[in-house]
Amino acid sequence: MKSSRTIIEAISQRASEPLTFMEVCGTHTVSIFRSGIRSLLPPNISLLSGPGCPVCVTDQGEIDCAIDLLDTPSIMIATYGDMLRVPGTHGSLAGKKSEGREVQVVTSAAQALNLAKEHPKKEVVFLAVGFETTAPATAATILEAAKERVRNFSILCFHKKTPPVLKQLVQDPVLQIDGFILPGHVSVILGHSGYRFISKEYGIPCAIAGFEPMDILLAIADLTFQRTSCTAALHSLYPRAVRPEGNLKALNLLDSVFQSCSASWRGLGVIPQSGYQLKDSYSFFDAIPKLELTIPTPPPPHGCRCGDILSGHLVPSQCPLFAAQCTPMTPIGPCMVSSEGSCSAYYKYNRRGVSSWKKLPLATEAEDA
Ligand code: SF4
Repeated sequence: MKSSRTIIEAISQRASEPLTFMEVCGTHTVSIFRSGIRSLLPPNISLLSGPGCPVCVTDQGEIDCAIDLLDTPSIMIATYGDMLRVPGTHGSLAGKKSEGREVQVVTSAAQALNLAKEHPKKEVVFLAVGFETTAPATAATILEAAKERVRNFSILCFHKKTPPVLKQLVQDPVLQIDGFILPGHVSVILGHSGYRFISKEYGIPCAIAGFEPMDILLAIADLTFQRTSCTAALHSLYPRAVRPEGNLKALNLLDSVFQSCSASWRGLGVIPQSGYQLKDSYSFFDAIPKLELTIPTPPPPHGCRCGDILSGHLVPSQCPLFAAQCTPMTPIGPCMVSSEGSCSAYYKYNRRGVSSWKKLPLATEAEDA
């Protein structure tokens, strides 16, 4: 307790000008809220949540594609639980399940493959979402499916890469981010090299952080010290888990099974080289050509500002629907559904606005909505 107070005092002494740091990862967002870190920081330090919730960044068209697929009776969708209640244009996976469609909640890609083996008359489609943390497990499952010649298994591959979206954020002329708190678990896979461009090319300090409150406080202190001493480097504050070279076994798995492709991110548009696509030798397991699917391009839910929130242009309380029409019981966008979503975290921990955590840079725009 004493050491955390010392760190906060050190941050307060150094933060002589307003600084905005983005925590990229949804797990960090929840840990920051849960531990009350925001309320302990000096007023000059603002924290902004980024596009690090895998459920939230899955594009509306990708959600619709999965939901529409359930109109085919022979299809079984296997998905992580957080995806169930994400509203699509015409309902949700949970809604389809309640109508008797085949939707199974799994905790891993390997479980989805087991479902395919147990249900040979069904085409089991795994909804493969998430970042570098979950993509290696999907790759390993594809290799297993190929080895065992499982013919009734495929994936909707909506995995996304972290560095390309960070590049888009640092190139955004509206955002003025003074430093990034980088995701510990993604870094376990990627190592350091994927992020170096942020400090080298754009002069923005970065700190790789673990998920304990002390890890996050140290990252904020590191970024504050870097910024106020006019330096910009990538520092790893999570060496107990992150090796500079990353997890070579996982990286090899990704290289064996996937190639890079453009990917559509909710609110951020199509970002080049930010997605994973199965290589030709594994394309049999790609549900899109296998089932002759097209990804629709619907508009976002009316009034929902998830896109602006994921891109750091707004905070949840600036969405006109926040805590009014949109609550965890009546979610309108994915950021209110996911356990790592910013809107959900704001609702749970600060919906009465007791902490003035964040300056409101685009308040006028929010009022105009
Ligand atoms: Fe979307 Fe609801 Fe968040 Fe508004 S509060 S941005 S409607 S999820």
